[in-house]
Amino acid sequence: METLEFQSEARQLLRLMIHSVYSNKDTFLRELVSNASDALDKLRLETFRDKDLVADTSDLHVGIEVDREARTLTIRDNGIGMTREDVVGLIGTIAKSGTAEFLDKLRETQDAAASQDLIGQFGIGFYSSFMVADKVTLVTKHPRSAEGVRWESSGEGTYTIEDVPDVPQGTAVTLHLKPVDTEDHLPDYTSAAKIKEVVKRYADFITWPIRMAAEDGAEPDTINSRKALWARPAADVTEDEYAEFYRHVSHDWNKPLETIRMHGEGVFEYQALLFIPSQAPLDLFMRERKRGVQLYVKRVFIMENCEELMPEYLRFVKGVVDAHDLSLNVSREILQHDRQIQSVRRRLVKKVLSTVKSLMAGKPESYETFWREFGAAVKEGLLSDTENQETILDIASFASTHDAERPTTLAQYVERMKDDQQHIYYMTGDSRATVENSPHLEALRAKGLEVLILTDPIDEMWVDAVPGHKGRTFQSIAKGQVDLETEEEKAQAEERQKDFADFLTWMTSTLTDQVKEVRLSSRLTTSPACVVGDAHDLTPTLEKMYRAMGQ
Ligand code: ADP
Ligand code: MG
Repeated sequence: METLEFQSEARQLLRLMIHSVYSNKDTFLRELVSNASDALDKLRLETFRDKDLVADTSDLHVGIEVDREARTLTIRDNGIGMTREDVVGLIGTIAKSGTAEFLDKLRETQDAAASQDLIGQFGIGFYSSFMVADKVTLVTKHPRSAEGVRWESSGEGTYTIEDVPDVPQGTAVTLHLKPVDTEDHLPDYTSAAKIKEVVKRYADFITWPIRMAAEDGAEPDTINSRKALWARPAADVTEDEYAEFYRHVSHDWNKPLETIRMHGEGVFEYQALLFIPSQAPLDLFMRERKRGVQLYVKRVFIMENCEELMPEYLRFVKGVVDAHDLSLNVSREILQHDRQIQSVRRRLVKKVLSTVKSLMAGKPESYETFWREFGAAVKEGLLSDTENQETILDIASFASTHDAERPTTLAQYVERMKDDQQHIYYMTGDSRATVENSPHLEALRAKGLEVLILTDPIDEMWVDAVPGHKGRTFQSIAKGQVDLETEEEKAQAEERQKDFADFLTWMTSTLTDQVKEVRLSSRLTTSPACVVGDAHDLTPTLEKMYRAMGQ
């Protein structure tokens, strides 16, 4: 037997669980049942893929056992199990991206409600067992390991691990429950009624049977209804059921912002249940992020984060697509080239975008939340999804000089445009302050022209790629000549140009290493001079970005 230390982040998370500020302790059971369900999905998938794998898939299920005398609760599955390396890697350390940030944020938060929100958003998984147990034992066997593994810990910095013979397929997690009568007011998790209630609330839709004996020694009953939510008539499903299912697929404990149901019939039959979250995950802009849309085939889970069904820029959309006419051992390779999948994807994208559009009209507050949380990701679609470029511009909002607090849509901008205004003016920069203090803004401000303030890194890229919107072109106020003069002003400018011709030639030759050309400007009102880029030059921010990427 070996005693090992938890990795430091895991230790912090465990301490948090043991002295939990999270009031809803029932959620530990949801986490364990959800892990068991994942393990059953994985085993079934593995046996499709690897015909030589020796495993019994004839009665895959989750079992819950209570022992009132010993005050233990066991959640058992006959799924994929874990190898010794898995146990050390998955249970002893926290590989989840964003954990460090999560812990930092949590430390900064003094307010109990806010920290509950954070915990909710993060989803603490297996470690939540330590909210209700003072010792946890996990026994597991992977079909490719000769022996089983027994892991045990009281969550206080170390755990023990040892190989054990004769372990059945799958994983059993036994919780040695804390005494009932602590100041925590722990519910009695040895009560069958309590367990049933929690399973009903959190795991009813799980497609595997969850079995439990009503009392010690009785024959176990299946306690979940196992109905796939997306296959039930929309009118029969309550908002709470959707919210619970959303948690199951997304591991986000907030309520979804919007729920979308779709189905297709005919050549390619499918059902989809999609969710737009109400909060961006911590890892929205990180590469290794998992979980997007899950693919099922005839109720059987096939894969997580099915990129073939949802483009990168809508990666925050969660949910399930259940396709009826695919083979169970369909691979990513096949999906990539499947015409039907491409057409389903096109329909899903259109539906998500049109849902956002209807939020704009019908639920402006939800729309604002949506755009604040996901706008920066959605704008990536302006580059990658030219088919929907117009729609994306329709649903986009931008900071603007019109209102310091509230962003504007392009439609609202156009509404406010001056009669003779041709372009939609914008300026990119690191922050609102940089743009507002820029000399480029002076002339436009003087003329009362509105300028969009674009500060997301992606803005630099799409403004070059998107020619315009509904016949108006996007015009950077920091590039080239911004044509603002009336006829009269133009005549005056030409006069001045003549007067200063010699001076400008001299200045251009003096500064020849620094600038291409020195010219008189009509855009400044208070600053004496400013540096502008050529119409086709990179902006300073973009130059910085390329340099950072090593180009
Ligand atoms: P998450 O489920 O979000 O990945 P958890 O803390 O719940 O995080 O679990 C961590 C990992 O441990 C899982 O991803 C899985 O690989 C493994 N694991 C947990 N429970 C089981 C189980 N019952 N059977 C097999 N693997 C499990
Ligand atoms: Mg989990």
